Amino acid sequence: MDAGRKDSLLLPPPHAAPYAADDQRSQGRRHPETIQGYRNEYQRDRDRIIHSAAFRRLEYKTQVFVNHEGDLFRTRLTHSLEVAQIARSVARTLQLHEDLVEAISLAHDLGHTPFGHAGQEALHERMRDYGGFEHNLQSLRVVDLLEERYAEFDGLNLMFETREGILKHCSQAVAKTLGEVGERFLKKRQPSLEAQLANLCDEIAYNNHDVDDGLRSGLITIQQLLEIRIFGEEHAAVCRLYPRLQQRRLIHEIVRRMINRQINDLIDCSLQSIRDSGVRSIDDVRAQPKPLLRFSDRMQELHLELKQFLRAQLYRHHQVYRMTAKARRVIHEIFDAYMQDPLLLPADYTHRIEDRSAPGLPEEPQARKARVIADYIAGMTDRYALTEHDRLFNPKSPA
Ligand code: MG
Repeated sequence: MDAGRKDSLLLPPPHAAPYAADDQRSQGRRHPETIQGYRNEYQRDRDRIIHSAAFRRLEYKTQVFVNHEGDLFRTRLTHSLEVAQIARSVARTLQLHEDLVEAISLAHDLGHTPFGHAGQEALHERMRDYGGFEHNLQSLRVVDLLEERYAEFDGLNLMFETREGILKHCSQAVAKTLGEVGERFLKKRQPSLEAQLANLCDEIAYNNHDVDDGLRSGLITIQQLLEIRIFGEEHAAVCRLYPRLQQRRLIHEIVRRMINRQINDLIDCSLQSIRDSGVRSIDDVRAQPKPLLRFSDRMQELHLELKQFLRAQLYRHHQVYRMTAKARRVIHEIFDAYMQDPLLLPADYTHRIEDRSAPGLPEEPQARKARVIADYIAGMTDRYALTEHDRLFNPKSPA
């Protein structure tokens, strides 16, 4: 770090255990900055993320459903807030750095394309010859490079530990190109416990909320879900206590109990494995052969069962499939139109293609053009992508 906390107004975080991340012993920022007195460096990261353009766009990006399908469904923004809420409360119990956990949670989906996984797959197909497209890597690209807010650097210049947490997984080949943040994939080391926690809370959040949204949409039914053990068990418990509960409250009671059960399981198992491992510092955490935070084997099994159900019954539901097929076509067609004629892109992007000194882009001209186009498309919201598609292909629509 470039300065100490000695002469600042800051108190150390209230709950930090010795194995928690500590901004005072951080690997720091890529571009050194002076420390402000009134917030710690992970709070500062969290605030930068909230003020970023990519974060605001999450409001209009899909999780499973397309944004205009209904106002009650989760978007990437509400999903990210829910992940942060779950992760913060677990972090406090495990005595981890809450601000870092929150920053990672809020940033973890910044690189998602419009139209959820359908959008990502479509973009990956088009980028196959140019290094591919992966939302996790794109989230890092957004915070390292694509946000344009500061006079002195590209991106948000976040702390190492925040960037490390955003990069959940990564191939060896890509890791080699990422400098210090890629190193742990090459050396087979673990990320901080805060990063491990944000990752697990992401899973808790989306599995349970997809149950909730799935039921609300009518694409899956309570009857079907009764076959799934974790849902069935909580359903029985709620019905025993409240036999005449109206359906909406019944669903909410079940979902909140499922979430609580998973959180309790995660806390118990993780505390046990932290204790058993004897870790005394973040360096000890990094040197562990596998992540210390985890669910019990039984919960893992229940989780998997729920996941498989959602994949088969919701994500591959005929109606969802028809919508995602359309989304895929929209992304393909927009991409191809720009590739054929880059002058269709906004001037900023055409300049990036031409400017050989622009950072983070391949030298080879086709690959360079493709990456700039992928960055542009990945940043679009669902509705922006639909409008842009209309503008490009419908002669009656304004240019
Ligand atoms: Mg997520």
